[in-house]
Amino acid sequence: MSSKLKIYNTLTRTKELFEPIDPGNVRMYVCGPTVYDFAHIGNARPLIVFDVLYRLLRHLYGEAHVKYVRNITDVDDKINARAAERGISIRELTEETNKVFQADVRALGCLEPDVQPRATEHIAQMIAIIERLIASGHAYAADGHVLFDVPSMPAYGKLSRRSLEDMRAGARVDVAPYKHGDMDFVLWKPSASHEPGWESPWGFGRPGWHIECSAMSWKHLGETFDIHGGGIDLVFPHHENEIAQSCCAFDRDVMANYWMHNGFLQVEGEKMSKSLGNFVTIHDLLHTNKFGGRKWPGEVLRLAMLRTHYRQPIDWTVKALEEAEANLLAWHDHADFDSITESNEVPATIVNALYEDLNTAETISWIHSLNKTGQMSALKSALRFLGLLNSEVFSRATIQFDPLHDVTQDNRNKIDGWIEARLAARAEKNWAESDRIRDELAAMGVVLKDNKDGTTTWEIRRENTR
Ligand code: AMP
Ligand code: ZN
Repeated sequence: MSSKLKIYNTLTRTKELFEPIDPGNVRMYVCGPTVYDFAHIGNARPLIVFDVLYRLLRHLYGEAHVKYVRNITDVDDKINARAAERGISIRELTEETNKVFQADVRALGCLEPDVQPRATEHIAQMIAIIERLIASGHAYAADGHVLFDVPSMPAYGKLSRRSLEDMRAGARVDVAPYKHGDMDFVLWKPSASHEPGWESPWGFGRPGWHIECSAMSWKHLGETFDIHGGGIDLVFPHHENEIAQSCCAFDRDVMANYWMHNGFLQVEGEKMSKSLGNFVTIHDLLHTNKFGGRKWPGEVLRLAMLRTHYRQPIDWTVKALEEAEANLLAWHDHADFDSITESNEVPATIVNALYEDLNTAETISWIHSLNKTGQMSALKSALRFLGLLNSEVFSRATIQFDPLHDVTQDNRNKIDGWIEARLAARAEKNWAESDRIRDELAAMGVVLKDNKDGTTTWEIRRENTR
């Protein structure tokens, strides 16, 4: 089968026809979060972009023939520092953060990847790769550290297109004494006895960041696979170093055939990032009134992102959210969404736009025209395909109504439905879900009252701000 999908490959800096190594087993790896703190909405961009690609690949090759791996980095110096600060173990910290992360990603309408490997569960694979690198002369142990010997790999710098000379010029001057060369990077480093660590041939220690992804992609996708993704900031050094490790350990020319990178979500022209302090967490956007005085459903952020091509930068504004929400509500109302049967076929215009290097901006234009021309079942299937207006996520959170004027029978029925869902969640002791439903209703001005007899009644709170 010849593919129609074209993707921009950072390796070649060109748009290429996507040809998987094995159409029966299409493999994609995306670098996941370091779970020490809440993810911000810049981090949401790769989650959404690669979710759309995952959906498209499943459509093209069949659900059973695509494997999407997104890792969880649960050992890292930032994690150690935060856990020590809070007086808890790194496992407790990463469990807690990962729970919030998973809820955030669900709210963004993303499918779960096939595997979400944790770094700490792949220490054996990391050690195995490091041993191979030492054996083949690409790494050396010094002072409890193991370093990758960058000049041992002539092709180093191929992805980021930097020469060793450029890299040296940008490198810091205070090179650690155990490094042979200033560009050599850490594969393994020693841990003090109070720090997290594992026994290894080089003593008690912990892995560097880059080796984690080489180990997890190897374990779950093999020595070579199809697509590797992440944000554009990962090209150098992270992805360059992953390639160095995997190619040298397995004696291969390529780690992944296609390297895809999303552009930044920006604030006033700068990358949104933890270190600049200009970030908005997904969690705050969903659950607090900090932005525009209200909570926002994850799908609104999803659509706001999909309106721009994934390689372009996006400027973060509340106005973009308002526009996206207005679109979603218009489509929802026009389509009378819940009662329409979606067509089985995803409209060809939508799929064809995505074949062009994931042109989601064009898919949104097509959705507008499906709406204009009243092609409602096609509209519904297009939206579902893009992960928008999922009944569970969107309709609950954002079928908004003006409580003073518009408590229609339809809305009453919906509220009763949510109350039932909440009672079911409580019966399963799923307090998080129960609270979520209560909070979402409260955000719409519907206040629940739990009665002694086990029933729940509701009333409209008049000062509702919406
Ligand atoms: P980090 O936690 O910084 O490793 O980031 C996790 C993922 O989010 C990586 O793929 C980053 O490239 C991506 N990322 C971080 N900040 C942004 C941003 N402002 N815009 C888009 N992607 C980002
Ligand atoms: Zn990675």
